[in-house]
Amino acid sequence: MTTKEWIDLSDHYIMTTYKRFPIVLTRGLGVHVWDSDGRCYLDMVAGIAVCALGHAHPKVVEALKAQAETLFHVSNLYHIAPQILLARLLVENTLFDKAFFCNSGAEANEAAIKLARKYASENMKGRYELITMRGSFHGRTLATVTATAQERFHVGFEPLPEGFRYVPYNDLPALEEAVTEKTCGVLVEPIQGESGVVIPDSGYLKGIRRICDEKGLLMITDEVQTGMGRTGTLFACEQADVVPDMMTLAKALGNGFPIGALLATDKVAAAFVPGNHASTFGGNPLACSAALATLETLLGEGILENCRMVGEYFLSTLTELKGKHSVIREVRGQGLMIGVELTVPGADLVMKCMEKRLLINCANGNVLRFVPPLILTRQDVDKAVGILDEVLEEK
Ligand SMILES: *Cc1c(COP(=O)(O)O)cnc(C)c1O
Repeated sequence: MTTKEWIDLSDHYIMTTYKRFPIVLTRGLGVHVWDSDGRCYLDMVAGIAVCALGHAHPKVVEALKAQAETLFHVSNLYHIAPQILLARLLVENTLFDKAFFCNSGAEANEAAIKLARKYASENMKGRYELITMRGSFHGRTLATVTATAQERFHVGFEPLPEGFRYVPYNDLPALEEAVTEKTCGVLVEPIQGESGVVIPDSGYLKGIRRICDEKGLLMITDEVQTGMGRTGTLFACEQADVVPDMMTLAKALGNGFPIGALLATDKVAAAFVPGNHASTFGGNPLACSAALATLETLLGEGILENCRMVGEYFLSTLTELKGKHSVIREVRGQGLMIGVELTVPGADLVMKCMEKRLLINCANGNVLRFVPPLILTRQDVDKAVGILDEVLEEK
């Protein structure tokens, strides 16, 4: 089938929840993907910050193959060996005690919201409200889209569930002021990804922890995008030197195999008892084997160091580019989560980069976002920045 035929079929049969680029991707290896016409692209989208080890990483492929030949699925009515091993490795590498597994970032946050309410119903009489941040993104289920404090995602879906209150990001006094007798916790991204890589002041997360401690609130960090090495440490909270009560993960956790997780301290996790929350597929053997191989590889092969080193090089190279092109307003990032804010909309630049075989995406209208595999090299950076330079030159 030709690319045009694929796209016509897609338009015919698939609901239009996405505005898609006019290519069909059929194969990937490392930091590259190929389309149905055989063209090769340098992939700085990586499935939206998902394929942290790159495409078709041999360790993950091997783990999935072996698990597929052994056992696909049994449900959580039984104990599942790869799920137990994954939970142990996550707990050993964080300051949390227990894990719950699901299938996406939205589900992980949904689980966190439910656990916060359950814990509050038993330990914080009358409190159920979560404070979330303007510009945040937490998912598309009714509860998580309501936690997402951006009205553009709410229009047409009212009535929204109760129990969320919004404050500006990176504003501790506003947060402190918003706490009422109904507040049970705070849900926050260490860096806002979908809003265009928005990085708060260095003391911000610590300040939230302090406010939560003073007022007896739960602190929940959404590390769906920042987690699994993206910012140069396994989790972004490590760099902020903060230990939340709960943390959510998804995106890179399975390197592309769908899986989400909620981690919590024993104290909070104890609020869930059998019957409170569940997922048929959550923690399924295939997903957990993929995630276990991903996490083991991430911890074992110098990938976090590479992410920090190449991330810094990427930032400095882009900062040089800023000196050359006044259309670049700001370059910011941590590890390999990088945003280039423009003074103009970024959509046509993304398209022109695609035509020159570089995949990037645009967040929040005017921020070019780079979230490549963490195995990226300096040569890959040079190539990408070279293409961006050409495209800006032509503008
Ligand atoms: C992508 C994302 C989500 C939603 O994850 P899905 O797997 O699409 O449901 C939630 N929170 C953050 C911070 C994200 O970046």
